[in-house]
Amino acid sequence: MHINDAVFLEDLCPKSRLRQWRKSIHRITEKSCIYCGKPSESIDHVIPRSQGGLSTTKNCVPACLSCNGDKSDENAWYWYSKQKFFDARRAWALRAWLEGDLPLAIRLLQWANPNFKLKENYKKDESEYRAA
Ligand SMILES: [Zn+2]
Repeated sequence: MHINDAVFLEDLCPKSRLRQWRKSIHRITEKSCIYCGKPSESIDHVIPRSQGGLSTTKNCVPACLSCNGDKSDENAWYWYSKQKFFDARRAWALRAWLEGDLPLAIRLLQWANPNFKLKENYKKDESEYRAA
C-alpha cells in the first residue's frame, strides 16, 4: 500500500473514538512512557508524521511529555540510544511494538520494570490488537 493511499485514523474516527484509541495505547503500558518508564502523558509517533509516520497503533507509543518533546522529529533509535535512561529491553520492546507484536513488547517492558503489572483486561483486547 502506498503511503498516500493510507487512511488516517483521525479521518475515520470521531473525536470520542480517537480518545478511546489514545486511552487504549496508554493502557498497554499501564500509562508509563515506553522510553523512560515515567507516567505517559502523550502519544509519540515513533516515525514522525513529518516523515510519513502513520497514526496507527504500530507507530504510536505512550510517552511522557519530556521524551516526546525532546525526541521531536529525530530518528527514535538514534535519539533513544543517546539517552541516559537507555535500556536495551525497552529498545527491543519498541521494535516489537513497531512490528505489531504487542504481547512481546509488554513482556520486555515488564522485564525492564519490575513494578509493571499486566492488566487482566489486556487479554480481552488482544484479538483486537492482532487484527489491527
Ligand atoms: Zn519518557
